[in-house]
Amino acid sequence: MIAPAPHSPTRITLDTAALQENYKRLTAHVPASCQVAAVVKANAYGLGVEVAVPALEQAGARFFYVAHFSEALAVRAVTGCPIAVLGGLPQGAAADYKHHKIIPVLNSPEDIAACPADLPAIWHIDTGMNRLGLRTEDVATLASRAKSLPLLMMTHFASSDDAVSPFTAEQIRRFDACIAGLPKPFQLIPHSICNSSGVLRHPEAHRQQIRPGIALYGGNPTPEAANPMRPVVEITTKILQVRTGKAGETVGYNQTETLAADTQLATIGLGYADGFFRSGSGRAHLYWRGFPCKIMGRVSMDLITVAIGSLPPTCPPPQQGDWLEIIGPHQSVDHLGASLGTISYEVLTSLSHRAERIIGI
Ligand SMILES: *Cc1c(COP(=O)(O)O)cnc(C)c1O
Repeated sequence: MIAPAPHSPTRITLDTAALQENYKRLTAHVPASCQVAAVVKANAYGLGVEVAVPALEQAGARFFYVAHFSEALAVRAVTGCPIAVLGGLPQGAAADYKHHKIIPVLNSPEDIAACPADLPAIWHIDTGMNRLGLRTEDVATLASRAKSLPLLMMTHFASSDDAVSPFTAEQIRRFDACIAGLPKPFQLIPHSICNSSGVLRHPEAHRQQIRPGIALYGGNPTPEAANPMRPVVEITTKILQVRTGKAGETVGYNQTETLAADTQLATIGLGYADGFFRSGSGRAHLYWRGFPCKIMGRVSMDLITVAIGSLPPTCPPPQQGDWLEIIGPHQSVDHLGASLGTISYEVLTSLSHRAERIIGI
């Protein structure tokens, strides 16, 4: 559900038209025979499945991936399309998967054993993550004893966001070598390999299905180059108070910032409880009319203080009630992630639950 959050000092705007445009841009990268599944785990990377899934379905998406069964139920509530759970098939869960028409991704021999012949499933081959997935050397034996054929054979890239890593090509080679060693019927099963970065960098791995996530939500799948996707999320926050800190005074918890001169400060009603990581203390920026305002001192749970005194003379400083940009035209989700010492994925999946959410533009 979308919490209306009356009088919230923070607004998250989700541009569903941009989300749909990103889906279409990814579709344009692959042949018509390749299905563009949408990864909507972690509540559609923080955007909200009740908004993202219908928008993606309207843009053409017909297959969705989540991490947990509980997430699959939330997606099932808004779509009749196939939904696959990346996290495997827990013991005793098969009847629930079948009842809700949820497809398990089978990651281990135990998962395969737990999966009844009449529950459609995906086999995940680990080609280098060492996280989940069948070991390549085990797949042939498992295939020879299989009760039924999987819908898809899947693998997942470790380093496709890295433009120069040779490991992605090596993973594709391992996957193909593994499949080539399987009984004939298994060699005809469609493949699902690429995440967002893989879609843009490795057309040889598009195959029959791709699984983009972050690129749909406006993260840059090719970080070394300009972002080919449209931004989807904007966050603005209202100034609760403007004050003058005097030379020699300190700002915030633990007095980590001492003012060298009298400084105009603005305090906003957003903090680490809203997903703005404490690692941004003293270094990240918010933007006022395109100009950066540095965070002064510690990010606290519900509040951040920024300096607003060094704006150009042509830019009148903001007042109480004015809105500062956290993510928007001057600070992308990737840029904010970098200045918080993390990545766009973590920024989005940490989006505030107590902000007002505005859908569409
Ligand atoms: C999260 C995930 C994806 C999507 O990855 P992005 O980098 O967000 O495009 C695809 N496949 C698997 C197995 C995943 O866990």
